[in-house]
Amino acid sequence: MPDQSVELSVKASSRKRPYRIEVLGQKDKVSVFCDCPAGALGRFCKHKAAVVAGDMSLLALPEEEKAQWADTRALMSQSTLPAKLDELRAAEKDSEVSKQQIKSLKMRLSRMMQDGA
Ligand SMILES: [Zn+2]
Repeated sequence: MPDQSVELSVKASSRKRPYRIEVLGQKDKVSVFCDCPAGALGRFCKHKAAVVAGDMSLLALPEEEKAQWADTRALMSQSTLPAKLDELRAAEKDSEVSKQQIKSLKMRLSRMMQDGA
């Protein structure tokens, strides 16, 4: 893919001014940066995740940045980032199921402890 840099504005919950996302296509890799407090430290943030997932709900200027969004989607289609994010979401779902199973087992066990087993 040709080298490409795309910038997007995403809604900031803690301030008026939007955060900036940069999607960088270089060689055969796609990088995503965000200038929110977590993103600026290179950490996972919901803004980068939304952009990778193709979720437009956090875009601050969806109309004005239509072309940038299309370019971002095109870059993501050549990246393994969306697949890895799907993997994370699946792990989160499994973890939620486990938490519910633990809660239900604790309730059952405490009932059994009271009733005797
Ligand atoms: Zn962010």
